[in-house]
Parts: sequence; structure tokens; C-alpha cells
Amino acid sequence: MTLSPSSDRLHIGVIGLGNMGGPMALTLLSKGMQVSGFDLSSGRCSELASQGLAIADDLTSLCQQADILLLSLPTAQIVEAVVINHILPQARSGSLVIDTSTSHPDTSRALAKALAERQIGFVDAPVSGGPKGAASGTLSMVLGGSDADIERAQPVLEAVSAKRTCIGPVGAGHITKIANNLLCAAHLLTNAEIVRLAQQAGVDPVRVLEGVSAGSGRSGISEVNFPLWVFSGQFDSGFTMQLMRKDVRLGKQLADELGLDLALLNQVAATWAASAGTLADGEDFNAIVKPIIAPEHP
Ligand code: NAD
Repeated sequence: MTLSPSSDRLHIGVIGLGNMGGPMALTLLSKGMQVSGFDLSSGRCSELASQGLAIADDLTSLCQQADILLLSLPTAQIVEAVVINHILPQARSGSLVIDTSTSHPDTSRALAKALAERQIGFVDAPVSGGPKGAASGTLSMVLGGSDADIERAQPVLEAVSAKRTCIGPVGAGHITKIANNLLCAAHLLTNAEIVRLAQQAGVDPVRVLEGVSAGSGRSGISEVNFPLWVFSGQFDSGFTMQLMRKDVRLGKQLADELGLDLALLNQVAATWAASAGTLADGEDFNAIVKPIIAPEHP
């Protein structure tokens, strides 16, 4: 489709219309913004088009017309390729990139530097809250960027998130997101061991985690993941094993690059890496608990 020329409304271009980017684009649209999207998957494009989203013919037209480009892409390598091959040569001077992907802080810093030479701003704004948070505009965001760029990004950030924490300069958002997901990855393993312990001790694990959630051992995993996705048997959070394994790898890579030998992180990273042998990429990330809580049904 040919995108309509800029009006006085900000034109938001969303690149990556997957589990997160798709509902974020629809949320922006529902709040009266001018939004177009692009995804390599024609299936995702058709699905979003059927829900009213304008789909760009290609990345070139999207980059040339958008005031703000919001990225929701799987990996730092893909973010880098999209920025270097499309946004850098084609986006308008004075435009702004908001990267909501979980990416590497060094990638963000290098891209922000290259974009700044063309007067294009960059904010790293990784998210928590899953597809439901994206669809309801209630994500949590951790932000890295200059005050001026974060200020310019506000209309978009406010539309998709309920909570925003400014962490520091470019890259600081991604460091915080990696830290968050390392804790999440570790908490899934520790809570699964507590469930196993409770089962073996003859007490109801559901009640045990309710008790834990009322005490100082609580976490998002004990309060949300186990009741919603594990004990229910649903395992349908919308966040895949593949993406969580990537996040844990990013965390281990960051620690290695910083010369840190962190014992618990090493063990968590090894367990998640080994899970690739038994849990398929497309499975829900909560499935990491299955071999611990039900070892007889791996
Ligand atoms: P996803 O795999 O569902 O979506 C990614 C989309 O990007 C896919 O539709 C894919 O076709 C598209 N894509 C890949 N390369 C592309 C390219 N070059 N140009 C255009 N489109 C391209 O992933 P997701 O779950 O939506 O996650 C997106 C990002 O958000 C990831 O970095 C992930 O780690 C992060 N994240 C996800 C969740 C979640 O709950 N799903 C939560 C927080 C953060």
C-alpha cells in the first residue's frame, strides 16, 4: 500500500509485527496515531492489515515517511541489519528510532552513534509485560537515551506503557532488561525446585507458592508465571524458549565481556543453554520448569 503523506500527526512506523510489535502497533492506532507497519512475514502483515493497520510495501518507504520508527525485532543482529541497511540510509534527518527489542547495549551504542551523524535520535526502550501488556498499552519500559530523545519519544512511550523508568544513556535500558530477564530465568529454576520440594514434602505446591508470594521470597515468577501459565497447564505466555534462551545468552555474554565470573549466572546460563536439546524453540519459556517439577514426564 502507498502510505499517505505526512499530516500534522506524528507518523509512527513499526518494524517487526510479531507477538509484541503487532499489538503495540494496534495500540498506537487505537489511540489515534498515524501508524504503518512492516514485517518480513507476509502472514503477520495480512493478519495486522485485517485488523486495520496500514502495511508498508517495503522498509524503504516506511523509513522515508516515518517521524518515529519503533522496532520490535528478535535479536541484536537483526536490529543492527535493519538500522544499517535501511534506517541509516533512508530515514529522514530529525527522525527518531525507539528500539523495544531486547538487544545488546553495545549494539545500541554503536547504532546511536552512527544515527546521530545523520541527526537521527535513538532510545533503547525494552519492555516487560508480554503480548497482553502490548495489547492493553500497559507495558513496563526501561529507557536509555538522552533527555531530549526520551522527551521526543514520550507520546509513543506513553501510549504503549503504564510504567517507564529512565535508567541512563543509550544502552542502559538494555542492560536493565538483560538484568531483569536473568533474574526471571533464575527465578523460574528456583521456584520450580521449591515446587518439587513441596511435592516431595507432601504439601500443596500451589498453596506453598501462595505463601511464598505473601512473603519476602516472592517474585513475578511466584506471583504470576506459576499461577497463570504453569499450574494452569496453559504454557501460553506468548514468550518463546528461543527468545528467553537468547536473553540468557546476552546476559552471559555481557558478564564475560565485563570479565565477570558469576557462579549463579554461569549455572543458570548452562541450564538454559542445555534446554535447547529437549525444549523446542517455539515452546513457551515457562516450559523450562517441566523437567524439574515433573521429572518423570520430561
Ligand atoms: P516475534 O518473533 O513474535 O516477532 C518478531 C517479528 O520480527 C517476527 O514477526 C519476524 O517476522 C519479524 N522480523 C524479523 N526480522 C525482520 C526484519 N528484518 N524486518 C522486519 N521484520 C522482521 O518476537 P516477539 O515475541 O514479538 O519479541 C520481539 C522482541 O521483544 C524480542 O527482542 C523479544 O526478546 C522482546 N520481548 C518479547 C516479549 C514477549 O513476551 N514476547 C516480552 C518482552 C520483550
